Amino acid sequence: MGKVLFWFIVIVAILFVARLLSRNAIKQAPSGKLGRTPADAPDMNRAEAMVRCDHCGIHMPRSEAFLSNGRTWCGPEHARIGQGKNAQ
Ligand SMILES: [Zn+2]
Repeated sequence: MGKVLFWFIVIVAILFVARLLSRNAIKQAPSGKLGRTPADAPDMNRAEAMVRCDHCGIHMPRSEAFLSNGRTWCGPEHARIGQGKNAQ
């Protein structure tokens, strides 16, 4: 009975070590490709849409744009000038 228990423990230990080694191998080997992919994907999704100022035509990220009357401007000054130009 003691021998059976001994071999059982040895086999469990071998399986445990094999699992640790395979986990390390997965972490080390393909991490260059697989590890970066999930990090790159959100970056691509986070890439902001570029919008154009209706007055001077400069392009900027949507978060930096000044939105007015459904049009995009590089700032409040160009929004005022552009809307004034349209009103005339
Ligand atoms: Zn502008």
